[in-house]
Amino acid sequence: MKAHDGMYIDGAWRPAAGRDTIAVVNPADEQVIAEVPAGGAEDVDAAVRAARAALPAWAATAPAERAARIAALRDVLVARKDEIAETVTAELGAPLPFSQAVHAGVPILVAGSYAELAASYAFEEKVGNSTVYAEPVGVVGAITPWNYPLHQIVAKVAPALAAGCTIVLKPAEDTPLTAQLFAEAVHEAGVPAGAFNLVTGLGPVAGQALAEHEGVDLVSFTGSTAVGRKIGATAGAAVKRVALELGGKSANVILPSADLAKAVGVGVANVMGNSGQTCSAWTRMLVHTSQYDEAVALAAEAAAKYGDRIGPLVNAKQHARVRGYIEKGVAEGARLGAGGPDAPREQGYFVSPTVFADVTPEMTVAQEEIFGPVVSLIRYEDEDDALRIANGTVYGLAGAVWAGDEAEAVAFARRMDTGQVDINGGRFNPLAPFGGYKQSGVGRELGSHGLAEYLQTKSLQF
Ligand code: NAD
Repeated sequence: MKAHDGMYIDGAWRPAAGRDTIAVVNPADEQVIAEVPAGGAEDVDAAVRAARAALPAWAATAPAERAARIAALRDVLVARKDEIAETVTAELGAPLPFSQAVHAGVPILVAGSYAELAASYAFEEKVGNSTVYAEPVGVVGAITPWNYPLHQIVAKVAPALAAGCTIVLKPAEDTPLTAQLFAEAVHEAGVPAGAFNLVTGLGPVAGQALAEHEGVDLVSFTGSTAVGRKIGATAGAAVKRVALELGGKSANVILPSADLAKAVGVGVANVMGNSGQTCSAWTRMLVHTSQYDEAVALAAEAAAKYGDRIGPLVNAKQHARVRGYIEKGVAEGARLGAGGPDAPREQGYFVSPTVFADVTPEMTVAQEEIFGPVVSLIRYEDEDDALRIANGTVYGLAGAVWAGDEAEAVAFARRMDTGQVDINGGRFNPLAPFGGYKQSGVGRELGSHGLAEYLQTKSLQF
């Protein structure tokens, strides 16, 4: 695969300060497909300086001009969507149709939504005898994970640019090629030099240098709760803005009045898509005790249908981790309805779509984020029991409720401690705020709420 051997800083590809590299591996066949530079503090410093130098001019551009650049960026993503999908498939392993529809498709929607929002957002309002201005926060340090490599970049860069901020991006080490492609797209879209900068590198080296850099005004991080906690502490000590999009262990609550077959089928598909590597996946399926056995049979059937269509996990470490969780589920007394810990293929980091039955709320597989194609079916006795189980983890990112009557589902959803709930299989909305309650994070992405994260307010009194 094509790779740049430098960093995208101040509008050009520049050699890295050091000689270290990161090997990019195709998780479907374990072959090295490219190498990219592993940046360090010096590269991060150069990128932050470029972003700071570009800030005054970019912050002063009219919103319509910023909207035009983001619209141009969306158009480049559209023109290069096949290349994007192929790149994501090569370094993440997602099956090509999923990469085309989701990994390439969703960022186009999100970039489009910010082109519109940049043009229409009220950056100025009158409040009594005051005028309140929404001004850019400044230089953004964006740190992203590998599981939706382009979406997570666009969900930070598009609103930051729309707000008038400038950015340094440190993408995940497993998926740097998608990030390099994105930098090419930013360049082609005519975004001014320095407004967007890319430093590839390791988390504890380049990521940490970015989070700690004095020239960064806001750190926007998506990734694990463990790293997020550290980044939050660093930002707090520096009195710096921080946004954290972290892990999840979401509940799919099927009330007795729901269409069981549909709720189970959509629920299993929700977990298996992207091989279970979705922070908002509904990995706990809550079923009334009277329908439990039927739900287990339906889930096992739905998982078995996935069979070979599921992609590998991203790397050897995740492969071992997810198989370890499946073994732990068995050891703690959960029953396998489908799948299991054995690797289904000799080559590639594959795990079989796995359904666990007889899972109790306190088991490890019901509490910890597995980040693999594993769904756990948990019984509940009544609605209060279901709510207690649904809210009974440290996370609160997403969830689903199914009921015969929409109002019944809404009433339940309002009692859930979580940031997003899909009602009877509700569709993705790129404008809906996305983010966590509890340890799933701080702040929101997408739509106008996502834009507001990159703004600070100033009031003038008259
Ligand atoms: P991770 O936390 O290991 O890495 C995420 C990013 O942080 C990477 O770019 C990595 O290089 C960097 N990083 C690692 N250590 C760092 C450090 N000490 N300082 C600064 N940066 C550092 O997470 P991951 O394994 O790449 O991603 C999976 C996790 O991300 C899951 O827990 C998942 O739920 C979460 N996630 C959350 C959301 C959300 O929106 N809430 C979305 C996707 C993924």
